[in-house]
Amino acid sequence: MKITLINKTKWSTPDLRKMIRAALKSYDLKHDKHVTVTYARQRSATGRALPGNPRLHREGYRMRLAIPSLGNGAPDMRQDVAHVIEHEVAHLYGIGHRDMVGIHRNRQAVPDWLTDDMQLTWIEPPKPLPRTKEQVLQKARLGTQIAVQQRADKARSFMEKHEYEVVKTQRELDRYIADAKAKMASHEKLAAKWRKKVRYYEKRGAYEP
Ligand SMILES: [Zn+2]
Repeated sequence: MKITLINKTKWSTPDLRKMIRAALKSYDLKHDKHVTVTYARQRSATGRALPGNPRLHREGYRMRLAIPSLGNGAPDMRQDVAHVIEHEVAHLYGIGHRDMVGIHRNRQAVPDWLTDDMQLTWIEPPKPLPRTKEQVLQKARLGTQIAVQQRADKARSFMEKHEYEVVKTQRELDRYIADAKAKMASHEKLAAKWRKKVRYYEKRGAYEP
């Protein structure tokens, strides 16, 4: 008998497989089975199974289990899950709810196939290793490097801004000097013209008493 187990939870797949196989064996089921395990929304495990029919020698082949996601430090789900597996495998065999007595009705009852070596463990994926001192220092150095780079960029932008202002002011100064020189030249020209006239009138006896 092959059990195709699709486990979408962190509950151990080998643990689940071991329990399911033991339950199927206790009912003497032989055909291949397809089991899907997902998380339950409620605080207890639930299940579903395609019913079989022993009179027609037909086994149910599909079963679904839902187990709460509790993680480490959670109450032991082993017995609760074993109870649900027992219930669903009974369905696979062909037992309906009306025929269910004893173990199937009593949530506290422990199936006889559940032995002490069967556990249901929660498997956490390995956490990334803590950073070494060298990695921490490297990150700090990188941070310093970035900060220095940022300050350098800021300094460069201030330098460029003021260099531009120097060039701009120089141009303004050149223009002002050129204008002033032109103005001065114009006044000098007019002064010379009027000086000539003044001399002319002086020669004619102007200002003479
Ligand atoms: Zn049922």
